[in-house]
Amino acid sequence: MNCKEIWVIAEIRQGSLTRTTSQLLGAARKLAEQQGLHAAAVLLGGEQTQADELARKVPLILWVKEPRLETYEASRYAYALRQLIEVRGSPVAILTGAGAAGLEFLPRLSMSCDSAYASSCVDLWWEGSELACRRPVYGGKVYEELALSTKPAFFTVRPGAFAVPENLETPGKIEAVSVTVPEDLGLDLIERKRTTAGQKDLSEAARVVAGGRGMGVPENFKLLEELAGVLDGAVGVSRAVVDAGWFPHDIQVGKSGKTISPELYIACGISGAIHHVLGINTAKVVVAINKDPDAAIFKSADYGIIGDALEILPGLIEKLKV
Ligand SMILES: Cc1cc2nc3c(=O)[nH]c(=O)nc-3n(C[C@H](O)[C@H](O)[C@H](O)COP(=O)(O)OP(=O)(O)OC[C@H]3O[C@@H](n4cnc5c(N)ncnc54)[C@H](O)[C@@H]3O)c2cc1C
Repeated sequence: MNCKEIWVIAEIRQGSLTRTTSQLLGAARKLAEQQGLHAAAVLLGGEQTQADELARKVPLILWVKEPRLETYEASRYAYALRQLIEVRGSPVAILTGAGAAGLEFLPRLSMSCDSAYASSCVDLWWEGSELACRRPVYGGKVYEELALSTKPAFFTVRPGAFAVPENLETPGKIEAVSVTVPEDLGLDLIERKRTTAGQKDLSEAARVVAGGRGMGVPENFKLLEELAGVLDGAVGVSRAVVDAGWFPHDIQVGKSGKTISPELYIACGISGAIHHVLGINTAKVVVAINKDPDAAIFKSADYGIIGDALEILPGLIEKLKV
């Protein structure tokens, strides 16, 4: 059984919808319109405020109010979505953000549906009746384009791939869907801890200020926190400072850390090794501050400042505060 819908699985962080979810709802609306389909958001667990937030962006919200989905866990999400497909019919496509959760539960779901899945896409469009995507491969050295012929077709999409849409004139309809998730799916979630409490989510931040070994000592990263505060952004770091034990891995940017797509990325005292810049190759504007004029980071930067970050940052913060 098929339904003429495109689903976006909503991601919620710190009580609100992620920026990527809003962007995907805009993309789903446009793609649905082009083929006479309907765009819908799927809210797993969650609260009325989040359902209302979704209703401002998409005409239909499928709200699975199951207490076992209150806390994210991949096998529960995959199970609930499989049930939703059973009761409602197979949508044409299922989209979610290419964050840690999406990259975990969506491939599981696609396997259980025996359907095609493309990860970390940066664009989506129709090739006839098939949904096609562009995505980086070989560590971002090349992009490939794929058209997925299965229904549903599954995609995780990187933050920043689409613009946040305008609110709808008439809020969408919220439809409660009954799905039961069994208690025992072979995994018990004992505890979940945030390691960077209070910090704005790195993957979601529109502005990121990042520091590397060139910042000298951990205390100097206060300057980056201050600049991030002024810009309403988040702090990221290179692997060298994670390896040195200065910061946790969850704010590392790069190949073995997070891939991010902020509107502005300011790299301070970061050499620009390939493993680092692979994490920012979809950032819109990159600014580099480095005292070595030959540093590789300047090849990836739109704007370069040659100089000592510790001298440049206080002045920059003062100017931006005004
Ligand atoms: C498999 C693999 C995966 C990896 N994954 C990642 C990853 O995900 N992310 C990542 O970042 N790295 C990753 N790395 C490591 C990567 O190759 C580099 O070693 C690392 O990025 C270097 O960090 P850095 O630029 O902070 O330090 P450095 O290379 O030591 O560079 C410090 C820079 O700071 C500049 N500097 C010094 N003092 C100042 C100052 N006062 N003001 C301004 N500039 C100054 C220097 O000129 C230099 O360019 C990976 C490596 C491997 C092998």
